[in-house]
Amino acid sequence: MTTLTAGLADRIADLVEVYRDLHEHPELSFQEKRTASVVAARLTAAGFEVTTGVGGTGVVGVLRNGEGGSVLLRADMDALPVDETEKVSYRSRATGVDPDGDVVPVMHACGHDTHVTALLGAADQLAARREHWSGTVLTVFQPAEEIGAGARAMLDDGFLDRFPRYDVALGQHVISAPAGHLYASPGVFMAAADSLRVTVFGRGGHASAPQTTVDPIVIAASIVLRLQTIVARELAATDVAVVSVGAIRAGSKENVIPAEAELKLNIRTFDEDVRTRVLAAVTRIVTAEAAAAGAPRPPEITPINDFPLLVNDENTTRRLIAAFTTAFGADEVHETGTKPASEDFGRFGTAAGVPSVFWNFGAFDPVRYPDGAEQPNRAVMAGIAPGNHSSEFVPDNVEPALLRATEALLTAAALWLTA
Ligand code: ZN
Ligand code: ZN
Repeated sequence: MTTLTAGLADRIADLVEVYRDLHEHPELSFQEKRTASVVAARLTAAGFEVTTGVGGTGVVGVLRNGEGGSVLLRADMDALPVDETEKVSYRSRATGVDPDGDVVPVMHACGHDTHVTALLGAADQLAARREHWSGTVLTVFQPAEEIGAGARAMLDDGFLDRFPRYDVALGQHVISAPAGHLYASPGVFMAAADSLRVTVFGRGGHASAPQTTVDPIVIAASIVLRLQTIVARELAATDVAVVSVGAIRAGSKENVIPAEAELKLNIRTFDEDVRTRVLAAVTRIVTAEAAAAGAPRPPEITPINDFPLLVNDENTTRRLIAAFTTAFGADEVHETGTKPASEDFGRFGTAAGVPSVFWNFGAFDPVRYPDGAEQPNRAVMAGIAPGNHSSEFVPDNVEPALLRATEALLTAAALWLTA
């Protein structure tokens, strides 16, 4: 759709400046105040109706432009507690206070600064070229993607009632891949993730008299081993899941049996039914192991965070891939499989009962990917190219990456915005 992208190249210097400023000033989840004010100011200047403070620090910009379809375009704004490697003049030296109260370095190590910049670029284009489309555009700048909480917070803040209805939700994420290249696939695109905190209650006492206690360490140990049987014994060979115990904490002294033990679990699944079964099995095993040991009360299982399964609507994704291929050429558009990482973007589609599509774009020098653009992950695994969340994840081909990411949003949106 060249009518929406026309003239975009003239904006790129400005967008690179926006990007560098955001990169230099990253903010942790739900603390994206500065980012939100940059976004709100630009959207207002472009003529959008702007609402701030949606679900905490979220910003929504609406542009109504007559009859036609309605498209939601989403970018996430938060950064990570990572100390950025010295590579660029605009490197982050920012710090933030994490939920535990600790001062931590902050970096856009997941590249959400590129998402915000591309969406601002698309917003400027849509506003400037109003005579070339009609319909409604919602630009959604979401907080706290990294902790799986931002999309839910915005939806819980009356999102669906406060803003116009939409026919489709579209979003994108930068990955370690050559700049200019796009990656998408229909169906399940990213894993569901559930993190749980399990607190096991026993009865403390002297280590010399275990008969007077209920030892929560022994209960926790049994739980850790028994949890391994969920994937090994309860799922079919064709089902896929990961159940990991990432943390276990109990006691402080060798001759004291503590009163409780804490475990932290991370679960990844690629199918809603498998997810339900795995979560039910975790609850059953944890509860039964405590009961088997005669625990004075049942364990507490509380969610730390959760990401829904990200499913790209089949037909819509096919339409999008076709549009990308027409616009950018088959060499730069790739169909990928399912990824084990997670995203909360899908909630915007699910909550409204509309299709959603999420795709990836590259942002690095092609020389980093000797095996070609088709399998960029190989270079990451070989340690030649940095992966998301690494302290070295600083796009080195920013200009073409931002250009393509902005073009991708406009090309996708154009499918619903009848001219
Ligand atoms: Zn991330
Ligand atoms: Zn991310």
